[in-house]
Amino acid sequence: MEGRTLFHVNSTMTGGGVAELLGSVLGYLLGADVRSRWLVVEGDEDFFVLTKRIHHLLHGKDGDQGDVGRAEADVYQSTLTRELAPIADQISRGDVVVLHDPQVVGLAPHLRRMGASVIWNCHVGADAPNEHTRRAWKFLLPAASSADAQVFSRAQYIWEGLDPNCVAIIPPCIDAFSPKNQAMEPGQVQSVLAATGLLRRPWSGDDAVFTRVDGSLGRVDHAARMIEESPLPPDAPVVTQVSRWDPLKDHAGVAQSFAQAVPPDLEAHLVLAGPSPESVADDPEGLATFEELRSCVASLPELARSRVHLACLPMDDIEENAAMVNALQRYSAVVVQKSLAEGFGLTVAEAMWKSRPTVASAIGGIQDQICDGRTGVLVEDPKDLDACGKAVTDLLRDRTASDALGRAAQASVLDNFLAPRYLGRYLDLIETIVASR
Ligand code: UDP
Repeated sequence: MEGRTLFHVNSTMTGGGVAELLGSVLGYLLGADVRSRWLVVEGDEDFFVLTKRIHHLLHGKDGDQGDVGRAEADVYQSTLTRELAPIADQISRGDVVVLHDPQVVGLAPHLRRMGASVIWNCHVGADAPNEHTRRAWKFLLPAASSADAQVFSRAQYIWEGLDPNCVAIIPPCIDAFSPKNQAMEPGQVQSVLAATGLLRRPWSGDDAVFTRVDGSLGRVDHAARMIEESPLPPDAPVVTQVSRWDPLKDHAGVAQSFAQAVPPDLEAHLVLAGPSPESVADDPEGLATFEELRSCVASLPELARSRVHLACLPMDDIEENAAMVNALQRYSAVVVQKSLAEGFGLTVAEAMWKSRPTVASAIGGIQDQICDGRTGVLVEDPKDLDACGKAVTDLLRDRTASDALGRAAQASVLDNFLAPRYLGRYLDLIETIVASR
């Protein structure tokens, strides 16, 4: 990389897996003296409605059922043409640019013409391609195939029509030292959750702290917006799902499965947590999905309703938000990820790293992370509410088995999904591309 800069480009600085990934890998790159930059394209509502549609299509779902034709290509291209100029100003011949996800792949042909080596990393995909996936491929293929290489999280996601010699499989990673995943003492976990408003207990400002990426001390100052009938009881076992408010994460399904299949005598409570819904720039569906979830929870039977807590975690300070997620995952007796589709599912690796027993749908990249019965529990049919609830119940009842799953889970993440492993794979790919140009 000597004399070259490595650029990462995506479409949001906060919220979602890619922002999470870039926030941590950039530090490792800079620490290894690789000159690195992260650029974010901006778009208007039309652009993000379209790219969210494409996101759903790539997952094999029909999303908002809109078109991806000539008019949409104009919306897409005009935004990226406008965004290209400030990006192009910073990039020199020989630099390496990694474009993340469909929002920015349209920049590939332009950047390549400027003499940059371009990698497109597609973080989403469908286990079995269908007519929806193929519509998205058709829309994006000319841009995607103009990149020097295309990176997918798993082999099943590779597109038809790409040159197999230019494709690499690199699953994403988590950063063990980031505010999201750094070690926390049990007292610190409880204080962070108390400061967030999730637990009602006295806490000291000196305990509701975390270490920022720059090494300084951070303090949890903002509270979550809680939608709940009453606060979490101090000793209740907590079942958690943390995700953006996206229909594919199926928060409502988690709530229903909890209500119908986790017996009340376990006295467990469910926390569904996500970013405050207005805050994720490239996700226009967040608010509507959250409101639907609220009505779904409001319609649950009374006993179940009183055990479900919705937490909108403030995004004023992204590292503070990460510390809240960290504490919540560590506090949880069981972590669920009942997604209907998932490119990789960083939340699963995050929970596993914290030695939590996880129950997750056997879909997408989750299958590459959880070995069923050894490092977590996979639920075969993501729509099977009873199966999900039963798996949660079994883990709540058998703490010895849960602990064993949690320990094996952490060991597996240590081997496979931490940042150094990811960066090693990426730098190998870059070496090949730069050498061949
Ligand atoms: N996340 C977060 N704050 C929130 C909700 C989610 O930091 O309030 C993070 C979560 O911890 C994970 C990422 O957002 O690191 C979501 O990545 P994942 O791959 O699970 O799903 P995506 O959002 O990319 O579909």
